[in-house]
Amino acid sequence: MSVDQGSQHVAQGRGGAEQRPGVDEVDILWISEGMSCDGDSVAVTAAAQPAIEDVVLGLVPGLPKVNLHNKVLSPTLGGEEFLAPFRAAARGAAERPFILVIEGSIPNQNIIEGDGYWTSFGNDEQTGEPLTLNWWLDQLAPKAWAVVAVGTCATYGGIHAMAGNPTGSMGLADYLGWDYRSTAGLPVVNIPGCPVQPDNFMETLTWVLFHAAGAAPPPPLDEMLRPQWIFGRTVHEGCDRAAYYEQADFAKDYNSPKCQVKVGCWGPVVNCNVPKRGWMGGIGGCPNVGGICIGCTMPGFPDKFMPFMDEPPGGSLSSVLIKPYGAFIRRMRGITNAVVNKEPKWRHNRDALTTGYDPHYRP
Ligand code: SF4
Ligand code: SF4
Repeated sequence: MSVDQGSQHVAQGRGGAEQRPGVDEVDILWISEGMSCDGDSVAVTAAAQPAIEDVVLGLVPGLPKVNLHNKVLSPTLGGEEFLAPFRAAARGAAERPFILVIEGSIPNQNIIEGDGYWTSFGNDEQTGEPLTLNWWLDQLAPKAWAVVAVGTCATYGGIHAMAGNPTGSMGLADYLGWDYRSTAGLPVVNIPGCPVQPDNFMETLTWVLFHAAGAAPPPPLDEMLRPQWIFGRTVHEGCDRAAYYEQADFAKDYNSPKCQVKVGCWGPVVNCNVPKRGWMGGIGGCPNVGGICIGCTMPGFPDKFMPFMDEPPGGSLSSVLIKPYGAFIRRMRGITNAVVNKEPKWRHNRDALTTGYDPHYRP
């Protein structure tokens, strides 16, 4: 059953029983012409939970049929064929509800005096003039079933929005308004990361799609519009090296397996699940594999984390405070570790039983 944009139907269960309200087919209109490196499109090709191919091929039970329009993953040859569903949606003639995915930060077109533009996507069919990203957002965001910002540039501005930039770049919610609501009543869904962790994106998109199908409530988001279940913990809380931190055993260079807080890691104050989740197929995750956390998922990135590789100001205080406890506890654990690394003395092959067995208790 097809649906009009923004409307819903009642999906039929087995035997025709009414089951749940939802849509059964959606388009994903993915524009990566924000100020970006296209790294999020590339990253998402590595997702496995679920893989984007599985979603598009309909291999995830319960999801609506998904038509993906992303320039990296498009089977079209590009040009007008690729642009057609975007143009139709901008005219208000979309065939079905669409989820707008934006990659890259949004430049401020208002600060350009006279001709010129920061970034564009296709040309105006009448005038041949470039259509700016801002124009597309103005057309598509009010009509979108949901809007998803992928990567730190689209969510909060990222590198393009750092101090001293000439473009006035910003995140999608800065542009649309933090109180923006899609036709489904959803705020912008932010999935930060530079680039986005592939499974973080696909897991959130899948939740949005289940919600579209009427099979799940809206995804729970925090005040920065991030999925709560993904960004509710710090890097430090999931780091492989956290035990070294607790024992005040700090790396002095990047070749060490110990805690990297004194060589620039911001993990204790950064919301990100990457050390827990890994990067690809569960492998990797910045500090786990020797990379300091530079806070790439955070609204304050990059300015508030620079200069990278310097010890964070809070890191020097907390590492000094933990030193007496950590050094003492490490020594005590070393002693206990030596004790529990020895077998008990009654395990021998001499001709005497020394286990402490008491025949008095024989039945
Ligand atoms: S390496 Fe970073 S995240 Fe890991 S324990 Fe040290 S400070 Fe925390
Ligand atoms: S661990 Fe830090 S640097 Fe790595 S992805 Fe998460 S926020 Fe970015």
